[in-house]
Amino acid sequence: MKLEKLTDKTFVLTTQFANVGIFHLNESEVILIDTGHIHEAKDLSQYFEQHRMKIAGIINTHGHIDHVGANFILQAQYDCQIAMPYVDHIFCEDISRYYMSFSTSVVEGLSVYGQGTFKVSHLIGEDETEFEFCGVRFEAIALKGHTYNQKGIVTPDGICFLGDSLIHLDVIEKAKFPVVTHIGWHFEAMESLRSLDYRHYVLGHGSVLSGNKMLNEFVEENFVYFNRKIDEIEGLLTVASKFDDLMFELNKLYNIRKNIFKYFVAERTIRAILSYLEQEKRIQIVIENGVMTYLLGKSNCQNHH
Ligand SMILES: [Zn+2]
Repeated sequence: MKLEKLTDKTFVLTTQFANVGIFHLNESEVILIDTGHIHEAKDLSQYFEQHRMKIAGIINTHGHIDHVGANFILQAQYDCQIAMPYVDHIFCEDISRYYMSFSTSVVEGLSVYGQGTFKVSHLIGEDETEFEFCGVRFEAIALKGHTYNQKGIVTPDGICFLGDSLIHLDVIEKAKFPVVTHIGWHFEAMESLRSLDYRHYVLGHGSVLSGNKMLNEFVEENFVYFNRKIDEIEGLLTVASKFDDLMFELNKLYNIRKNIFKYFVAERTIRAILSYLEQEKRIQIVIENGVMTYLLGKSNCQNHH
């Protein structure tokens, strides 16, 4: 784990899978922004113990398991408060709810998610732009799209944590189908980043961005990346108009089916891309002989959906 100082009070701890923000409330107490991947939960709790940091609170940018991974272990240890965007909490506060959203046959494939539960004390609402937490005010920036209600979190000393609203350029070429729940919202969120004005931006993964020139370059490249994925899927619909056929084609290109969990992650994004193409009237979605079918071109029939 590598610790980087951004201000007198705000630090970033880089772990193998994700970044963890540390805001110092006082000599001994800290607030974390995200808690990394569940695989590193134990290491993280040991780290804070060794460095005699008492965790007073945790703020999560969104509800993914590589951002809330140590929530339950740290809350059990420090009895700390947790703030998290409303709705995002539903599947991770109690992991059994996550399991229930999949068919039973894949539950085993998801066992990496552990069995922990934690309690959220402050749900950050969709329209909430700031909130008080452990006696300190944090800004909340709406960054919907990656998840339903992802939030950017700004510390009182002006360090902006952006969750997974951007993919770091160091890894963007390796990213196959990164999670996006709603492409249209995700694009709006990326666009809105251009108007921010902070000294440092911390993404969920990868090194810290300094200044807006760098941020804008990341936004630009992320747009290029996602539009390329969208065009690619639109293009594949000429040879594969059913979802499984599309996955077959994509698998030839990307080798997605490593395990069921990765397949589901990819599937979610691909379905979001298909919805976006429909929304943009670039394809239509119809039921053909009882099978959902994706047709290229403008919608002109009444019975789709
Ligand atoms: Zn995420």
